Amino acid sequence: MYVEKYQRQLHLQGYDPGKPDGDFGPKTCKAAMNALVKAGRKDNQLGKKALANSPPPVKRRLKSASTAKPRKIKIPVTSRSISEIIWHCAATPEGRSIGNNPAATIDRWHKERGWSGIGYHAVVDLDGRIYPGRDWSKTGAHAKGHNRGSLGFAYVGGVAKDGRTAKDTRTPDQRASMLWLSEAVTAKYPNIHRLTGHSQYANKACPSFHVPDDEIGNIPGFKQGHRNKNHG
Ligand SMILES: [Zn+2]
Repeated sequence: MYVEKYQRQLHLQGYDPGKPDGDFGPKTCKAAMNALVKAGRKDNQLGKKALANSPPPVKRRLKSASTAKPRKIKIPVTSRSISEIIWHCAATPEGRSIGNNPAATIDRWHKERGWSGIGYHAVVDLDGRIYPGRDWSKTGAHAKGHNRGSLGFAYVGGVAKDGRTAKDTRTPDQRASMLWLSEAVTAKYPNIHRLTGHSQYANKACPSFHVPDDEIGNIPGFKQGHRNKNHG
């Protein structure tokens, strides 16, 4: 998706990345290199000061565009009736890892609080890897009054580096995997008719973005977090 967008952008800027097919092939690579070189020249003309102040957006965009691919898992099957996915954040500081298996870490945290273990059914790490949490056949413990009939997913992050201020800290890899997970699960569970975030049910910022306005709430077949009515 990102590559395709970038290809369209290159085309608009007068380069020839070939067809916008989402593939980072030789043509796209050449066009991207030309765009990078030109951007570099422009910076030089603007002088050292401007160069120091100018972020390297082209390079960074190029990297995320070519590497942000979802890390897929096998979607568990359960006979439990599921009608909703509720998104959360782990409320951990931006960019900070919480271990090699974040689901295991959260499981430990929740047990230390005297709970029965991780309340989420899956956790998406900073690099987009998806880790299984609570068994999907078991009711979660993540959104008071809304655990029955739902799956709770969380991503690592959700607060700024100060450890307090709510912030949408999702990395491009996390976004890709969260989007993929939402699509794959709703495809496998046709009774899911809502995609929401914790903040819609509690006076909390979690997951630090508003799901109905996010790409997650508007995956194919959904609009503003609701399954399209004409869905078969
Ligand atoms: Zn939450």
